[in-house]
Amino acid sequence: MKKTILLIEDNPQNRYLVQFLLEQRGYEILQAETGPQGLKLAANHHPDLILLDIQLPGMDGHAVAYALKSDPQLKAIPIVAVTSYAMVGDREKCLAAGAEGYIEKPIDPESFGDEVERFLRVAQGDVTP
Ligand code: MN
Repeated sequence: MKKTILLIEDNPQNRYLVQFLLEQRGYEILQAETGPQGLKLAANHHPDLILLDIQLPGMDGHAVAYALKSDPQLKAIPIVAVTSYAMVGDREKCLAAGAEGYIEKPIDPESFGDEVERFLRVAQGDVTP
């Protein structure tokens, strides 16, 4: 069965790029522009993985991660924060908020798909982190 990945990202260019890179690998991509939209899609579709931008207008990525991990129905879904290297302390905050990992922005088209695949395999217990 196709794996489903939920992308929560406010930047349309990043959404386009991620969708392109992951559809090539056979994943089904759900897109949300805001945290609340993402939470609704997560509840309705129970994706296999959530890619979460941290800098979102309104409800930011930390708050979204916290909300997901506070929900018994959703807390098992792995979250990968997509965060800018320049944001010092962002990574630690993401992990503290419950994200399983992070990928640095800007998105590198060469490695992004492999990184996502690795997180999915870790989530399935196929490899250790
Ligand atoms: Mn953003």
